Amino acid sequence: MSNPQTTSQPTRLDVIVVGAGFGGMYAVYKFREMGYDVTGIEAGGDVGGVWYWNRYPGARCDLMSVDYSYGFSDEIQQEWSWSEQFAAQPEILAYANFVADRLDLRKSFRFNTRVTSAIWDEAGKLWRATTDRGEVIEAPFCVMSTGPLSIPKDPDIPGLDRFKGQLLRAQKWPHEPVDFAGKRVGIIGTGSTGIQIVQEVGRKAGELFVFQRTPSWTLPMRNHDLEPDYIAEMKKHYPAMREAMRMNPTGGTRPVSTRPFFSLPPSQRQDVMEHAWQDGGHTFLACFSDLLSNQEANDQVADFVRAKIGQIVEDPKAAEALKPRGYPIFARRPCLDTEYYETYNLPNVHLMDCLTDPIVEITETGIRTEVGETELDMLILATGYDALTGALLAIDLRGRDGRLLRDKWASGPRSFLGMMVEGFPNLFATSGPNGPAALANLITIAENDVDWVANLIEHMKAEGLASAEVTKAAEDRWMNLVLALAERSLVRKAKTWWVGSNVKGKPEGLTMFVGGFNKYREHCEAAAASGYADLSFEKALEKV
Ligand code: NAP
Repeated sequence: MSNPQTTSQPTRLDVIVVGAGFGGMYAVYKFREMGYDVTGIEAGGDVGGVWYWNRYPGARCDLMSVDYSYGFSDEIQQEWSWSEQFAAQPEILAYANFVADRLDLRKSFRFNTRVTSAIWDEAGKLWRATTDRGEVIEAPFCVMSTGPLSIPKDPDIPGLDRFKGQLLRAQKWPHEPVDFAGKRVGIIGTGSTGIQIVQEVGRKAGELFVFQRTPSWTLPMRNHDLEPDYIAEMKKHYPAMREAMRMNPTGGTRPVSTRPFFSLPPSQRQDVMEHAWQDGGHTFLACFSDLLSNQEANDQVADFVRAKIGQIVEDPKAAEALKPRGYPIFARRPCLDTEYYETYNLPNVHLMDCLTDPIVEITETGIRTEVGETELDMLILATGYDALTGALLAIDLRGRDGRLLRDKWASGPRSFLGMMVEGFPNLFATSGPNGPAALANLITIAENDVDWVANLIEHMKAEGLASAEVTKAAEDRWMNLVLALAERSLVRKAKTWWVGSNVKGKPEGLTMFVGGFNKYREHCEAAAASGYADLSFEKALEKV
């Protein structure tokens, strides 16, 4: 295994992996096990990806911990035990560290290093990556495990750099504890991140001012500890669980209903919704099959949840402002909370409705809205990400004939299976923007994608092939399918990062595969089973 040093001489490898989140960690392990000379490059100081950066109070995964974990190693899943149904960030990061230690992954990574460019060398049939440390690394294969949520986005509000108090970004949270006691704290953003912060910081801050523009839908998480008996039983069933996850539209273990909403009489529908609310988690999605395709069914669930908000929040004005309207429930990523709405009943927590009183600017001392200024000691930004494409387009990525990925994707991302891009041979993305990305379990998707790429590389090695590129026809076919499925989904009806509308100037559209992880996996398998008929290959100049 070569270890690239800071040098002007290019380091030659077999595979470059970008990112040390769950996708990149598995990719590095997989290629190393296959005998390839592989190095992972990661901007953060250690493994964990989004869980390395997002250390904000209350950070937690809203997928069940037993689902949101690797299935590729039975030793790992037997040795690791989760403590809660929905694990908090420290436990997930501890898990990433456990896996890195157990598989001795760190020796194959370069941390605190960012890839700034990656350029295809046609003559050499290899990718030449340059890092912000000035290293040049060459390899025939480049795997981008850069994550759909890794480029934080500041709000488009004038004056951010003027604020003299403590400015905290959720996605780059300090590693040291932050003390909120007695402080006047403001937060902008009420997506999944903001909701988790509000419910935690509201109980700690002197005063908390929540600047909410669009209210999100959030449902009770009802998190709980996992009992030792449950864990022991689950460990016996891991193989069957992982198989079930491969067959599941969300890539998790929770079965998805085949029962349409209106197949039940009204009173039974009400009972089912009440049960789903009490049960917590994503039970609603497991109760009915058509909540993302039938507007009327969706409206009824939305009414049910709005009524619950009204019952919990004591101040009628705040309750009304917290009720989402004008877009379908579940069309924005549904959040899971722990007493989020109850937080607004605390005397020190204030909802600032930016729909009726918009933010004008950030000042030296706080936030000024049309009505007046709120003075703050601390300001938290939970304003989301340049998602799905942001991390890939942040790299100067040039394929055949020097073509920039940024240019190719000027009207939105186009790829085959979210993994391969026409004009960019031997470049792969895991959990890419035209796969099921954020609509399913990202660890399940990453394992699927890394295995698919690994099998393709093995095929190329066996056949003496130097490069693989998806044909334009195959890429078009995949994108037509992605866009046709998107047309039928209510998901495209909300303004969210799912459709790119949260970033000014970004092309809008639902480009994720909404057909479910199980169907996506079947497409991946069919592509391999066809002998990679969708790809064009070039013979090797030399064997990898
Ligand atoms: P997000 O869902 O994009 O939310 C960003 C928030 O910032 C929105 O409320 C947005 O309001 C607000 N905002 C942005 N610019 C603003 C401005 N100029 N003025 C006022 N408000 C502004 O981002 P996120 O909460 O970080 O979540 C992103 C994704 O990360 C989630 O959807 C989820 O997939 C993942 N995540 C998961 C978990 C979990 O597993 N529990 C936790 C955190 C995050 P508008 O909607 O009006 O633009």
